Amino acid sequence: MKVPFSFLIEQFRDSSIVFEKMKESLSRCDFTLGKDLLQFEKTYAEQTGCRHAMGVGSGTDALFLSLKAIGVGAGDEVITVPNSFIATTGAIVQAGARPVFVDIGEDFCLDPEKIAPAISEKTKAVLPVHWGGGPCRIEEICEVAARYRLPVLEDACQSLGAEWNGKRVGSFGLLAGFSTHPIKPLHVWGDGGVITTNSDEMVEKIRLLRNHGLKDRDTVESFGYNSRFDNLQAIVGNHVFESLNATIAKRREYAEKMDEALRALGEYIEVPLRYPQGKNVFHLYQFSTRYRDELLAFLIAAGVEAKVHYPIPLHLQPAARVFGYQEGDFPLTEKQSRESITLPCHQFLSLEQIDYMMAKVKEFFSSKMK
Ligand SMILES: *Cc1c(COP(=O)(O)O)cnc(C)c1O
Repeated sequence: MKVPFSFLIEQFRDSSIVFEKMKESLSRCDFTLGKDLLQFEKTYAEQTGCRHAMGVGSGTDALFLSLKAIGVGAGDEVITVPNSFIATTGAIVQAGARPVFVDIGEDFCLDPEKIAPAISEKTKAVLPVHWGGGPCRIEEICEVAARYRLPVLEDACQSLGAEWNGKRVGSFGLLAGFSTHPIKPLHVWGDGGVITTNSDEMVEKIRLLRNHGLKDRDTVESFGYNSRFDNLQAIVGNHVFESLNATIAKRREYAEKMDEALRALGEYIEVPLRYPQGKNVFHLYQFSTRYRDELLAFLIAAGVEAKVHYPIPLHLQPAARVFGYQEGDFPLTEKQSRESITLPCHQFLSLEQIDYMMAKVKEFFSSKMK
C-alpha cells in the first residue's frame, strides 16, 4: 500500500468550475485587486472572525508587510521561535530587524513563559507561530506582550481554521499572516498570502504598503511595495474555500485516530500536547520518538511518505550564524528537530491508509519491545 503525503492532484482533479470562472473574469480583465479578490477577502475575514482580510503576494510578504506596518526596521528586535519554516525569521530579517529566538514548549509552539526574559528595549513585536495547524497558547502570549506594550503578529500560515477558546487564530494579535501556497490548508495555484486584522489603522497601512503607497491612482501617500494577491488566484481560493470545513473535519478525524493509536504504544512515542481549549487543523501530523531516523526509513520502505519538519532548526542554519546562537540554546526545538516525524494526514487518504500507517508504526516498535 502507498500513503502519499501530497493531496494536490486529487484536490484539483476536476477544475472545470475554476476554469469557467476564470474565463468569465477574463471578460472583465480585473487582474489586480479585482472582484474575485474582494469576495475572497470577505470570506477570509469571515473564516477568521476578523473585521478585515487583505490579499498580498505571499505568506512571507504577509509577515513582512505586517512588520513594516507595525514600524519594525533596522536596529529593532522581534521575538520568535527557531522551529518554524524559514519565512518567519526571513520576514524579520527582510524588515531589517534582528530575530530573537525563544524556545518552544511541548506543543511545538512558542512558550509564553520564555518571552519576558528575551525582551529588551529594542524589542518591537512578538511573532508566535501557530505551528503545523496550531493553535499556540495565543491568549497567554498576548497577555505577556500587552504587559510590555508590544504588538503580537501571529504567523498563522499553516493554520487557517484553528481555534483557541472558540476563537479563530488570526483574530488575537494586532495582525496575522496567512499563506495560500499550494501545500497550505487554503491554497491556490501559486503564491499568495493574506493579512487579517481588526485594526482600521493597520488596514490603511497595509493597503498602501501592498500597492506602491498609492492612495488613489495619482497620489503616492508613502513609499510601499508591489505585493498583491492575483485576482485569478482568488478564483482558485474561492473554490477551495467551499471544501475547507470538510477538509478540516476529515483531518481532525484522522489525527484523533492516530493520536489514540500512538498513545497506546506508550513510552516510545510522545504525542504533542493537545489543549482542551485548542482546535488544531492538522496541516502537519507530527509526533516524537528517539528512534526517529530508523522509523522514517522503515515507513518509507513500507510505502508511507513520512517526512521531517525540519531536521535543522533555524538558529543552527548557516544563514543564522551572524546571530551568534549555538547548539544547546533551545533544547526543545533541538529535540523536535532530532525526534519529530511527520505522517501524511490529509483529506484524500482513506481510513484503510490510516490504519495501515498505524499498523506499520506498531510493527516497528514491537521489534523494539522484544
Ligand atoms: C509557508 C509558511 C510561511 C511563508 O509562506 P509563503 O506563502 O510560502 O511565503 C511562513 N510561515 C510559516 C510557518 C509557513 O509555514
